[in-house]
Amino acid sequence: MAYVRLRLASRNEHKLSELAAALAGWEIELLGAAEFPPEEGQTYYDNARSKARFGRSLTDGWVLGEDSGIEVDALGGRPGVASARWAGESGHVAKLLDALGGVENRRARYVCELVCLSPDGKELRARGMLEGRVADEPRGSEGFGYDPIFIPDGEARTVAELGNAWKRANSHRARAAAALREAVHTRC
Ligand code: IMP
Repeated sequence: MAYVRLRLASRNEHKLSELAAALAGWEIELLGAAEFPPEEGQTYYDNARSKARFGRSLTDGWVLGEDSGIEVDALGGRPGVASARWAGESGHVAKLLDALGGVENRRARYVCELVCLSPDGKELRARGMLEGRVADEPRGSEGFGYDPIFIPDGEARTVAELGNAWKRANSHRARAAAALREAVHTRC
């Protein structure tokens, strides 16, 4: 297996630290870029791949693209791949709570798709999911995005209450990263 020094095509430090924990032994850092291409794909995979390809246009080494979102059953799976655009930079928690006002079915899941390009051009992909439900009100201060209102199955607390250490071990991103590591070991 080659020594893996990954560049993550993202500005999100939370994502970096969740991925780094699951990829211990590899090196992973954010790709320094002023601008990233807009997320216009129809699937997480499309967006993750276009981020990875953008990374490849800036560096010859290993690059990683990531896309993620929350799928809410009562909203027909939305916001899903549009999660980042659904409510802009802020207001997403309030918007989701509003959309679920009076709705009994709170079932939802986080999804993460990773696309990795090796220096010799192989494409490796992996997906991770975290099943849970949407809380009635925000609680907790760690994590990002929908974490204050997402309660994983088997837990009573939100991800923002469970905290960053819990997330590094259990998140959809940690699960995708573990699957990616397996794929790289098998194919490279
Ligand atoms: P993107 O992957 O950068 O396009 O952003 C996906 C969006 O989905 C984020 O802006 C968050 O709103 C949401 N999201 C993805 N992963 C997480 C997570 O681990 N916690 C909370 N929200 C998340």
